[in-house]
Amino acid sequence: MAGHNILFEGLLGEVKPARPFADNPKTGQSLTYQDVLDQSARYANALVALGVEPGDRVAVQVAKSLDMLLLYIGVIRAGAVFLPLNTAYVAKEVAYFLSDAEPALFVCDPGSEVRSPIQDTFASLRIETMGADPGTGSLVALADEQSAHFDTIARGAQELAAILYTSGTTGRSKGAMLTHANLLSNTRALVDSWAIAESDRLLHALPIFHTHGLFVACNTTMAAGSSMVFLPAFDAAAMIELLPDVSMMMGVPTFYTRLLAEPRLTRDRVAHMRLFVSGSAPLLAETHQQFEERTGHRILERYGMTETNMITSNPYNGERRAGTVGFPLPGVEVTVADPATGDPLPSGEIGSIEVRGPNVFEGYWRMPEKTRSEFRDNGFFITGDLGSIDPDGYLTISGREKDLIISGGFNIYPKEVETVLDAHDRVLESAVIGVPHPDFGEGVVAVIASRDGDTANEDELRALAQSSLARFKQPKRFFFVDGLPRNAMGKVQKQELRTRFKDAFSEA
Ligand code: AMP
Repeated sequence: MAGHNILFEGLLGEVKPARPFADNPKTGQSLTYQDVLDQSARYANALVALGVEPGDRVAVQVAKSLDMLLLYIGVIRAGAVFLPLNTAYVAKEVAYFLSDAEPALFVCDPGSEVRSPIQDTFASLRIETMGADPGTGSLVALADEQSAHFDTIARGAQELAAILYTSGTTGRSKGAMLTHANLLSNTRALVDSWAIAESDRLLHALPIFHTHGLFVACNTTMAAGSSMVFLPAFDAAAMIELLPDVSMMMGVPTFYTRLLAEPRLTRDRVAHMRLFVSGSAPLLAETHQQFEERTGHRILERYGMTETNMITSNPYNGERRAGTVGFPLPGVEVTVADPATGDPLPSGEIGSIEVRGPNVFEGYWRMPEKTRSEFRDNGFFITGDLGSIDPDGYLTISGREKDLIISGGFNIYPKEVETVLDAHDRVLESAVIGVPHPDFGEGVVAVIASRDGDTANEDELRALAQSSLARFKQPKRFFFVDGLPRNAMGKVQKQELRTRFKDAFSEA
């Protein structure tokens, strides 16, 4: 290799080729690190054969598979930019991403419904396919014909490795530009903080079009030279079977609530486990406690976002505090600031969570104005999350800035109200939103998912709110639903709820 490819060398530069890398129990596919080196070289050769040049984007919307992961490494080795897309996106959405990112190649499933409308819209776009079953798809066939040797193309620390479009619950999705240094620095911080070692085996059931499943889970595995059991999708029954064979699991909070619903999740079954990690959405303190009661393990909750990689983590050694997201990772600076001025606030006060460090992205693809408006002059990135740091240094997230409710001129942090309602023993979870109110601007509405279909009593909830919250924070209306709407990463879709209940105060 002439020069260095920072991310490839950081992840796979010192691997032991004979060590196991990943097994997919559903397809029977099994890879060693030698296979990763060989197969990623084949993909890199295939990309070059298709005319992909360094700096080009390769957009990928395929079902989760080990080949998709090998393609990711192939893209990095070819000096190109990996652009994974959520498999749930329909043709219209994909068309937006492709027109914005202008990739040199689009890879989709052989049976994709998106393919033909995309080909019609982008007549000159090169399209290849990759199927969920091993060995299926035109790109897989092309890679099979290639040499297992590839002279990895040099890429510097500041060059782009990936663009991930943010889930963007409101407004246009933005492409977060992530460099080789962003990804590698965060991988190293996580491997150190969570003491990931060659002997570890990770249960991988997250999607790999997202930062959590792709970077947090797979990059750390490669950098540590450890291995994983790679499931194509979340499957509680299969995971219960597999837990005795692994040492770590990373999940979104819904993984934990669904695993808790399985009576076969017992203390004995997971006694040997080293670490359970949760992130991407808030883990209810109640889930944390239930999981500890059932298994004896305290889930380690961490916080991050596509633009910044991982920001904070509860300690591996030390107290993992339920309801908090812990301390800044090594090399990462976190401040809670006055949203208007960016000045740091005293400990305990709720403000804008801002972050600076080698983990923070380069900016939004082709949106210089938007990028500038989300950074302070001192280089801190404004996450859009609100939170506070307690005297011991633990960060607690109170909600998203855009979720902030302003009713009659008073600011209400939904999380605070939700915490009160969630304490009722018939409430499974709640979502508190602001919707138009003729008098107050916004009125506070509580949407309640009750336990086992058992409807919590509205009067009791009102009394609970009255006993713990200032009057302006108390929900004026309550709605009961079977479950809260969530996206693929387990985040509650508050925008959907705001639309559904927008007339709550205009009906009368
Ligand atoms: P994404 O870019 O899709 O990963 O979404 C990032 C957002 O997810 C953050 O800005 C937070 O609002 C939320 N998030 C991630 N981790 C946590 C966590 N542990 N607790 C609460 N919210 C979280």
